[in-house]
Amino acid sequence: MKNMKKILEELDSRDRIAISGHIRPDGDCVGSCMGLYLYLKKTLPTAQVDVYLEKPAPVFSCIDRLEEIKTDCSAEIVYDVCIAVDTAADRLGDAEKYFRAAKKTINIDHHVSNMQGCGMVNYVNPAASSASELVYELMEEELMDASIAKALYIGIIHDTGVFQYSNTTPHTLTIAAKLIGYGMDFPKLINETFYEKTYVQNHVLGRALLESILFMDGRCIVSVIDKKTMEFYNAEPKDMDGIVSQLRITKGVECAIFMYQTGQQEYKVSLRSNGKVDVAEVAAYFGGGGHVRAAGCTMRGTYHDCINNLSLHIEKQLDSYEEEVK
Ligand code: 5GP
Ligand code: MN
Repeated sequence: MKNMKKILEELDSRDRIAISGHIRPDGDCVGSCMGLYLYLKKTLPTAQVDVYLEKPAPVFSCIDRLEEIKTDCSAEIVYDVCIAVDTAADRLGDAEKYFRAAKKTINIDHHVSNMQGCGMVNYVNPAASSASELVYELMEEELMDASIAKALYIGIIHDTGVFQYSNTTPHTLTIAAKLIGYGMDFPKLINETFYEKTYVQNHVLGRALLESILFMDGRCIVSVIDKKTMEFYNAEPKDMDGIVSQLRITKGVECAIFMYQTGQQEYKVSLRSNGKVDVAEVAAYFGGGGHVRAAGCTMRGTYHDCINNLSLHIEKQLDSYEEEVK
């Protein structure tokens, strides 16, 4: 792996630089892109630095200069460097064209489904808790500040479920400790960006839990929210975040599936595992990806088709796991 400090040496103060993360950006995606953006703005003041993302959820407005995010990719610009963060190029959405056209491309990611990296220069480490952790590692400590630290801290708490998931390492906690050292009201950040739910989100969560179904002898749980229900509650895709995590902690469950409808016979699927099932592998089979314990994909068909297809793969893995430990 290329020395990580060298990655930022690929950038020049005369460059036009674009940063982008994945579609439907989550906390780590917003935090890592904004952390990198704030850092480059500061360290390369004469470079043109643009950050492209779909509009983040309102809870992330506590991140400084969030309003500078560009959501419109209609301008034809050939960037000197384009940096894809927390994703491979295929999930950059409209900003993918800037990545494809850029003279130099860099990829910073921690998804096991993107081991090779999609850039000319890659910094991909699936052992990292978050893309924010990787972005932190690129930075010179003396050039960091409270704004950058806050963005990265938010990224880390979101991808580790506030240091609860198994991707949290001693290294993650060391970085988090350094970040809070820059001064931030971290209990407030954790509460307001991670735990707090809107009334609508709680309604949809409640509905999803109420209608969830246990199957595979209680080893698997599934819940689906269709378009009509989303409209009834006035809920957006962003409001579905966190539902699958709640399903995952059902006692006895090894694998949780949450799906919400995105179109006629089309569903966005979120998968979570408690360790026995590699959901990145399941999602990859259906054209998606992610991490061993948290992954996703988009599937077509009725929701029954989707569940049947997913279950086959999940059950195969669970059976072979149980066979191995016998
Ligand atoms: P979530 O279920 O929260 O949407 O996503 C869980 C993890 O899987 C995240 O790291 C996310 O980036 C990844 N992921 C979700 N959907 C997809 C997808 O369609 N393709 C790929 N490659 N990764 C996905
Ligand atoms: Mn991430």
